[in-house]
Amino acid sequence: MTAIESENESHRQAAGEVSDSSCKLKHLPLFLKRQHPEFEKLFEVIDALPLDDTHCHLITDRDAITSPKRFVERISLGGFPFPAYFPEGVYEQWVNGDEAAKFALDKKFDIRSKVDQMIYHLSQSIFIKFLVKEMAQFLGCEPRLETVIEARNDRSKIYWSYVGSLFRDVNYENVIHDTGFMDGAGNREIDTFERAIEPCRSHRVARIEAIQDEFFGMDIGFEEFEAKYTARLLDVLDGGGNYGKKSVGMKSYLLPDIGLIRPLYDKSLAEKSWIAMRKSLSVRSKMEREGAANITKDLCRYTFTLALEECLKRDLPMQIHTGDGEAPYVILRNQDPFYLEEVVRFDKDNMMRMPKIVPLHAGYPSVGKAAWLSHLYPNCYFELSIMTPFIHQSLYERYKQVLEVVPMSKILFASDNFHVPELFWIAGRWGKRYLSQALTDCVVGGSLTFEEAIEAARMILYKNNRALYKLSDA
Ligand SMILES: [Zn+2]
Repeated sequence: MTAIESENESHRQAAGEVSDSSCKLKHLPLFLKRQHPEFEKLFEVIDALPLDDTHCHLITDRDAITSPKRFVERISLGGFPFPAYFPEGVYEQWVNGDEAAKFALDKKFDIRSKVDQMIYHLSQSIFIKFLVKEMAQFLGCEPRLETVIEARNDRSKIYWSYVGSLFRDVNYENVIHDTGFMDGAGNREIDTFERAIEPCRSHRVARIEAIQDEFFGMDIGFEEFEAKYTARLLDVLDGGGNYGKKSVGMKSYLLPDIGLIRPLYDKSLAEKSWIAMRKSLSVRSKMEREGAANITKDLCRYTFTLALEECLKRDLPMQIHTGDGEAPYVILRNQDPFYLEEVVRFDKDNMMRMPKIVPLHAGYPSVGKAAWLSHLYPNCYFELSIMTPFIHQSLYERYKQVLEVVPMSKILFASDNFHVPELFWIAGRWGKRYLSQALTDCVVGGSLTFEEAIEAARMILYKNNRALYKLSDA
């Protein structure tokens, strides 16, 4: 037993955790306890099932001890980009500075009052209010943000033990984390995270942008760039190129930059784009964002196409950022799921080659379009993150919308966890609860038998993930 495991075990015993499934109804709010009797039966089984996260990001211990305001900022999609609302580096200086430094920066940039206003609005979201109630139930304290954070900080004195208790509560067995966003962490933090969440197994996907960005600043010709990019790509897929491990799939962040992605096989266009990108390097950071994206458009279509070819050869899936927030970094209007149709087809020589494509984030808010794309194209999957957990109670309606048309064999559970571990946990808790509620309607309506509904949950929560990424042999 490792130090972390024995720490987890003693904390489990100290917390008096029980595995008796009859206690699982404590995970339900009152109004759901009064639901149709079929719901209670389905929920008891589904809540105890294993869970796989098909797209998420690692956590570090830098959020172990936090404050109510900082917690709201770090867990909210609207809080994620606070640094972008001030000149580069200023917000980090303010967060990490002493009182005198904060005072000086406030005088110049009015950071405190702007941040307070942003946090006030975030704290008035139903997501935060509901999350506080759930955390209070888990931590055994009053359902107020300040009290919950106090209880969390107390548990976080042994942070990885607290994280382990969150993972056990929803029964995570596999996570696939995208190493393209790690909040500044490196090898050491990946290793700590992956060991700390054991026995949950960790797998990784690599982001195309993280690979190519290594070479964009180099004073080399296009041929050399392509050779370096391809060598790294192969190492990431077949060797230890993804921080010492191989990847079980790839991830692309191209859609928010350019909208419609058409595969590009023409090397000469990619080379022109490479030359233009090299010329613009010194002024790129000051360029207007659409103009900057246009310069690298063909180059990125080309690198995307090379990566997708390699995925196709290995029958590995490509995750593609779709829908979602991440303003002000992304161009929101570009994130339409239908803009993925050409890469789902992947036409060449008059033939559709149909690699396995996973549009991320349920295409939210265009959930219906992402679902319809997946309904029509057999090689297009459907992933539930961001929508899970951020739309909380309304997951019931959205899961019903997804189940309307997407084959159950293609729906993948995910949290897109970032910064703090509570997103892993609340995604699992709400995912299982509202999936049970949506499947109850299928059972009551006669479209699924009870057993079929349980099998649907098994597929969505873990079976599809293991089959798609071939995790049994990973
Ligand atoms: Zn992500």
